[in-house]
Amino acid sequence: MKRVLVTGGAGFIGSHLCERLLREGKEVICLDNFFTGSKENIVHLLGNPYFELVRHDVVAPFYAEVDEIFNLACPASPVHYQYNGIKTIKTSVMGAINMLGLAKRTRSKVLQASTSEVYGDPRIHPQPESYWGHVNPTGIRSCYDEGKRCAESLFMNYHQQNGVRVKLIRIFNTYGPKMHPSDGRVVSNFIVQALQNKAITIYGDGQQTRSFQYVDDLVEGMIRLMNTGDDFTGPVNVGNPGEFTIKQLAEIVIRLTESKSKLEYLPLPQDDPIQRQPDITLAGEKLGGWKPIVPLEEGLAKTIAYFKSKLGL
Ligand code: NAD
Ligand code: UDP
Repeated sequence: MKRVLVTGGAGFIGSHLCERLLREGKEVICLDNFFTGSKENIVHLLGNPYFELVRHDVVAPFYAEVDEIFNLACPASPVHYQYNGIKTIKTSVMGAINMLGLAKRTRSKVLQASTSEVYGDPRIHPQPESYWGHVNPTGIRSCYDEGKRCAESLFMNYHQQNGVRVKLIRIFNTYGPKMHPSDGRVVSNFIVQALQNKAITIYGDGQQTRSFQYVDDLVEGMIRLMNTGDDFTGPVNVGNPGEFTIKQLAEIVIRLTESKSKLEYLPLPQDDPIQRQPDITLAGEKLGGWKPIVPLEEGLAKTIAYFKSKLGL
């Protein structure tokens, strides 16, 4: 049986990944400090003898014998990663060093959950992996963006210097059940607001775009990337190229929830990227024809159903 470590395993994406790995017959160690994750996301797995939950912070070294590591530990929502920017940088950088050290000692494969944020506010559209990005190194998003960029550099250096088997995945905006209701990201915010008939908070004029990927499509891409040959390190974009303005997203959510909510326009946060769309040509080539299969409205419907039951509606 393969032993797989998932850091950030009690978070939104991590908990879906733990479920999938257990279904595939893997033994899973779920490591989390519960900063943004929650036991509720994985409580149903606790009775499984092949699932182990460890309260630990990736900033400190971790010792275990494992075959694969998925390194997801890091707050992902701007509200949470800006809450303590220094801690966010430590989590990305020291977390990467600790997980790479573990991979080096155990000769395991290690996958880093990187992000479309490495492209910053992009000047090339859609974004291919070859684009170096346009990031403000001192702005309010820099703790996350530069932390993730440094982690990518660490991964490639451990690969080149020490032969560690690394995989870099650049994840574009992902949504789905198990997002925290107060996560602060746009999909969860809009759904929770719409279900409660509260104002939908649009930052700026709502003309900025994002490309939204349903979590099952991402997890499939992550598993396929981990299973690629040792010569393929990535980075590889995994996202849904369907691009929507934030205003369009608000309108779709209002329609699907049959909400009475009105739109409320609030100031745009500093350095908020104007547009985002992944070029997924490389993922198609290297990940066995991978492409997203869940359309936005179908994924939103499942996410809305989750929040309805979560909020007791
Ligand atoms: P999330 O906040 O739900 O999950 C992050 C998890 O990491 C949480 O369970 C949190 O408690 C844990 N964590 C945070 N700091 C930690 C630390 N120092 N030690 C141990 N655990 C820690 O967010 P998510 O959306 O599930 O994101 C998971 C990963 O994917 C993150 O690395 C994020 O940067 C990356 N990512 C996500 C998206 C997205 O759209 N969801 C996009 C790009 C990249
Ligand atoms: N956004 C918004 N209202 C909200 C939350 C977010 O208009 O209540 C906007 C945000 O300014 C950004 C986009 O939605 O332009 C996506 O934000 P999110 O925090 O989900 O992720 P990002 O891609 O910016 O990291």
